Amino acid sequence: MADYPGIEFARQPHPAPVSLADRNQALANPGFGSVFSDHMVSIDWTEGLGWHNATIGPRQPLSLDPATAVLHYAQEIFEGLKAYRLSDGGIALFRPEQNARRFNDSAERLAMPQLPEDTFTQAIRELVMADADWFPSVEGGSLYLRPFMFASEPFLGVRPAKEYKFLVIASPAGNYFKSGSPAVSIWVSSDFTRAAPGGTGAAKCGGNYAASLVPQAEAIQHGHDQVVFLDAAEHKWIEELGGMNLFFVFDDGSMVTPPLGGTILPGITRDSLITLAREEGLTVREERYSLDQWRDDSASGKLVETFACGTAAVVTPVGRVASRTGEFTIGSGGPGQLTSKLRDRLVGIQRGTVEDRHGWVKRLD
Ligand SMILES: *Cc1c(COP(=O)(O)O)cnc(C)c1O
Repeated sequence: MADYPGIEFARQPHPAPVSLADRNQALANPGFGSVFSDHMVSIDWTEGLGWHNATIGPRQPLSLDPATAVLHYAQEIFEGLKAYRLSDGGIALFRPEQNARRFNDSAERLAMPQLPEDTFTQAIRELVMADADWFPSVEGGSLYLRPFMFASEPFLGVRPAKEYKFLVIASPAGNYFKSGSPAVSIWVSSDFTRAAPGGTGAAKCGGNYAASLVPQAEAIQHGHDQVVFLDAAEHKWIEELGGMNLFFVFDDGSMVTPPLGGTILPGITRDSLITLAREEGLTVREERYSLDQWRDDSASGKLVETFACGTAAVVTPVGRVASRTGEFTIGSGGPGQLTSKLRDRLVGIQRGTVEDRHGWVKRLD
């Protein structure tokens, strides 16, 4: 393995990794988020010392004092990115520097220390190389990486902690949606919002997800796959799904996605698809779009497709939308043409079968 500038990692290979038979079984049908690789990265931060104690070692439980700040005040942020097996057998990441940058933006909002971007990417590289045998054998599989940071200081006072842990774990991933359905059905929450102006909506923090669990459960209760949130001020404008950004495709070859501005998570998939769609000759507008307009445009046929996007599920067509006031179907209710085309292009770039004109793919080998 080549050496990279920056922090030195102590390398402690797992003394008793998962057996080949068990690993192969886990990799045949990994699902999402329940199977983990052998190793993890850990780096500590304390006031005065800064980042230190960088280790790649066995994945193992943490021992935490019951007063550990994160358990009380949720000072925690995370990232999500995938390592892909390329068609030539190599391994690559997709725009990891964007995750590193966003991680620091989240850290700033949650009053946490900045992690040098090259340390972030180096940590990921260490883990992927250590666990290169953990790529799933299933079609469309990848190694999902979860970098995160939390306040590890035992202290119950309310102020930014003086100690943090940065960790990276890896989880082989198959298809994100259990149903494997080509188009999902979504529920518009009228009682709950995800993010308010001035809040933490643009930060990737655990607290946002904790607050989304009740509305997500409500969506499931109503027989839908995912919840879609409206804005907090007017309960009118579409914002995003629990963990994915939304795009609306019109019959005149234009596309709309809600604008960033503090309440929307700036998705890297979102940003990449805006670029790819413009290359396809589409007009992409980042502007507000209301639930009423969405319903009317679906009825008139002006709106032809809607899809959600994010690292975990890549691109997911939305087939049906339901709310307290009724239901409507998008297009034919199945995956739209442009949705499929953009998805194929993005996945092709990520896997090395479509030309990467933007330098998005970072090879690790
Ligand atoms: C992570 C996330 C997304 C998608 O971001 P990607 O960088 O595309 O994976 C969208 N919305 C929320 C709330 C998220 O946490």
